[in-house]
Amino acid sequence: MTAKPAMTVPLLDLKPQLQALRGELQEAIMEVVDSTGYIMGPKVEALEKAVAGYLGTEHAIGVSSGTDALLLALMGLEVGEGDWVVTAPFSFFATAGVVARLGARPVFVDIDADSFNLDPAKLQEYLEGLPAQEIAKVKAIIPVHLYGQCAHMDAINKVAGKYGIAVIEDAAQAIGAEYPGASGRRRAGTLGTMGCFSFFPSKNLGAMGDAGLISTNDGALADQLRIKRVHGGSPKYYHKVIGGNFRIDPIQAAVLLVKLPHLESWHQQRRENAAYYTSLLAERGLAQVKPPQEMYGGAGLTNPHIYNQYVIRVQRRDELRQHLSERGVSTEIYYPVSFHEQECFSYLGYQSGDFPESERAAAETVALPIYPELTRSMQEYVIDMLGEFYAG
Ligand SMILES: *Cc1c(COP(=O)(O)O)cnc(C)c1O
Repeated sequence: MTAKPAMTVPLLDLKPQLQALRGELQEAIMEVVDSTGYIMGPKVEALEKAVAGYLGTEHAIGVSSGTDALLLALMGLEVGEGDWVVTAPFSFFATAGVVARLGARPVFVDIDADSFNLDPAKLQEYLEGLPAQEIAKVKAIIPVHLYGQCAHMDAINKVAGKYGIAVIEDAAQAIGAEYPGASGRRRAGTLGTMGCFSFFPSKNLGAMGDAGLISTNDGALADQLRIKRVHGGSPKYYHKVIGGNFRIDPIQAAVLLVKLPHLESWHQQRRENAAYYTSLLAERGLAQVKPPQEMYGGAGLTNPHIYNQYVIRVQRRDELRQHLSERGVSTEIYYPVSFHEQECFSYLGYQSGDFPESERAAAETVALPIYPELTRSMQEYVIDMLGEFYAG
């Protein structure tokens, strides 16, 4: 195809959001600039309070990125050499990267095919099969709430509780996602020992640079995290422990404070877009395409899924992407290589075939544009072009 595509549909367009909030954002940023207080301060405190209120958690600790949230959470549990941390092999690299950076061993358990999240039955089977001296090494489990939908936390907490293992939620893609647990409707990041969030610009709540946050209901742990956020100095310049510089930038906190009140409406627009894609796909009855599954759709939740990504499972994925790209539709693969097949983790000794569901997901999934301001006609165009591919 050489002709110019009839339409261009980007994977993400942050301009409409910027245009709507530009004045307010500028004012909030200039407030920090004019204050000359460029480290921590009132914007950071206000953001922590606001996010804690939104999540329904006791403590929120603003940090420098989602990656640093995960790293600091593990440091808060004193994870280090000789320790093991169990997670899914199908996630963004940071989930396992932070474990290895601390000298601990990432251990993988496969995902569930419908949710793309850590499979609790496989987790239980794995832990039950470990000899006692190996179980003692497992310091944490990191379930990932991939694409914006919570992992099955009741089941994961039950297995973790049996062995006294901490649970760190990687909620980087799932701020505001709800879970219909035994203890009632709760938000992602309040379901385990700690929750880790990212405000990377492409997340549902995005900063204008890097930022992140840790949530917890454990006061003693929150104190440790705050100390380790500033190199472990408490009081300043007196170090009982070693931390790092994991502070959130107050300019990013100011940006996030402007955006947070809009988050629910953005979730709603993403959910409407997702429902529209799913209905268009159903109309076409394409057997080659499987839309995302809402695991808690029947539980009366407002946000059983926040659709940070709308990920479909398809046949002939790479050819489809090429077809869509030539027709102006941008897509992405989250993620093309599972952790156990990454070169840097070859020392862990895993083989291809060890985690068949993760490998299948890496080979068969593709994310379609789903940002809030996406128009109906753009969505219709995407599905038309997708239909054209399978008809041709
Ligand atoms: C975005 C993301 C992170 C890392 O967040 P950064 O803010 O980019 O460091 C970690 N885990 C998952 C699942 C993510 O999607």
